[in-house]
Amino acid sequence: MTNTHDALIIGAGQAGPALAGRLTAAGMSVGLIERKLFGGTCVNTGCTPTKTLIASAYAAHLARRAAEYGVSIGGEVAVDMKAVKARKDMVSGRSRDGVESWLEHMERCTVYRGHARFVSPREVQVGEDRIAAKQIFINAGGRALIPDLPGIDRVATLTNTSILELDTLPQHLIVVGGSYIGLEFAQMYRRFGAAVTIVQRSPRLIAREDEDVSASIKQILEAEGVAMRLNAKCIHFEPRGAEIAVGLDCAAGAPVIAGSHVLLAVGRRPNTDDLGLDKAGVETDARGYIVVDDELRTSAPGIWALGDCNGRGAFTHTAYNDFEIVAANLLDGERRRLSDRIPGYALYIDPPLGRVGMTLAQARATGRPLLVGRRPMTRVGRAIEKGETQGFMMAIADAETHQILGAAILGTGGDEAIHGILDAMNAKMPYTALQRAVPIHPTVSELIPTLLGDMKPDPAHD
Ligand SMILES: Cc1cc2nc3c(=O)[nH]c(=O)nc-3n(C[C@H](O)[C@H](O)[C@H](O)COP(=O)(O)OP(=O)(O)OC[C@H]3O[C@@H](n4cnc5c(N)ncnc54)[C@H](O)[C@@H]3O)c2cc1C
Repeated sequence: MTNTHDALIIGAGQAGPALAGRLTAAGMSVGLIERKLFGGTCVNTGCTPTKTLIASAYAAHLARRAAEYGVSIGGEVAVDMKAVKARKDMVSGRSRDGVESWLEHMERCTVYRGHARFVSPREVQVGEDRIAAKQIFINAGGRALIPDLPGIDRVATLTNTSILELDTLPQHLIVVGGSYIGLEFAQMYRRFGAAVTIVQRSPRLIAREDEDVSASIKQILEAEGVAMRLNAKCIHFEPRGAEIAVGLDCAAGAPVIAGSHVLLAVGRRPNTDDLGLDKAGVETDARGYIVVDDELRTSAPGIWALGDCNGRGAFTHTAYNDFEIVAANLLDGERRRLSDRIPGYALYIDPPLGRVGMTLAQARATGRPLLVGRRPMTRVGRAIEKGETQGFMMAIADAETHQILGAAILGTGGDEAIHGILDAMNAKMPYTALQRAVPIHPTVSELIPTLLGDMKPDPAHD
């Protein structure tokens, strides 16, 4: 027998539940299918658990620095990994339960548990249930990419999911991948007390950022004792007694290091390989991401794709914004588009990096004349007072229109302070308007007008 709904949502991640809320409130009957954990990656294996662990790591770090603040701990700082994990499980679990209970009690919403696969453009199979709907929304998310590197099947490795189950301290954690996920785990585990080495194939960390950002982050992590092996061109694995040997380079430097645990953090892949998309006529690109237009419509009429599975964003806020775009267009008669979104994100090492708009490299590639401002955190009062002066802030504006093109704040409070610039960009305010604001003292944000007031023509422009 086929169950029929007005709309069907595959995945209870960051877009699906909110969309179910809007569609049911509009009077539609909705079927929502989740195969595993309600709340998806962010709540269970991504943002929430990692930021909760990072908070524990920060507490340990600050405790070790206590004497710098005139505070005496009276002994060694110890980290109880079981308690750290229990705190993380509690925070994550509450959030997951909240999403699940919300959906379970949502009027006109039927929750199905199991793996969904299309059997036709309007029908999905979930276990014994066949479910049909005129409109189908895919919010299937992604998972860790397991790279096809030599020897990978001969050793036990961790992903962002399995490392969250650890309740003991690795003796030496080797993190393969020097981007957002890898860096957060690297610093966190170093602060918990493990030896940590980051192994990265390219010459610098987070290569999509500007070089000065990569260099500063490297400095910050190295100062805490995180070892780096960049330019590791020949990454391979082999068992070595109780340890795992990771091969690095075939040409220069120590060819191999050994560690007790290896975390693979080399990227993500979409959960689209087992969705039966061919039965629905939904096109994917070469990497498996569902191809969508500017309003999140797939190649199949009546089917939308939201969140990480469409490859147009890789964050919780982009997945949620996909929901906002689809809901506004379907229910509110608006015409919102993906291309209206200004990219913004944070990297939650400590101090964090808040990023919006273009990098300097991207802004230069547009060929327009630029104004660029830069200020080290050593000249930000709030950072000095907190004893956290690593990093810098920078901003870029179009020299002719005065529109802000991008900014980065790598420094204490950078993940929050960057929103002043993000909001100004969304409001399409010229940077000169921000200079008239009267910011609160002492904050990191109060230096933003100063930073903008001090912008100089980009020396790279001829
Ligand atoms: C370690 C880590 C840290 C992160 N930190 C941050 C951060 O600090 N800030 C941030 O913005 N982003 C962060 N992210 C990214 C963020 O988690 C994702 O961008 C976000 O969760 C994407 O949401 P989504 O709704 O697209 O997919 P998901 O959250 O992945 O949800 C998809 C859901 O669909 C379900 N599903 C998949 N296939 C099927 C199927 N066939 N049938 C039924 N159900 C299915 C899955 O079980 C899952 O519950 C982090 C990611 C990781 C891995």
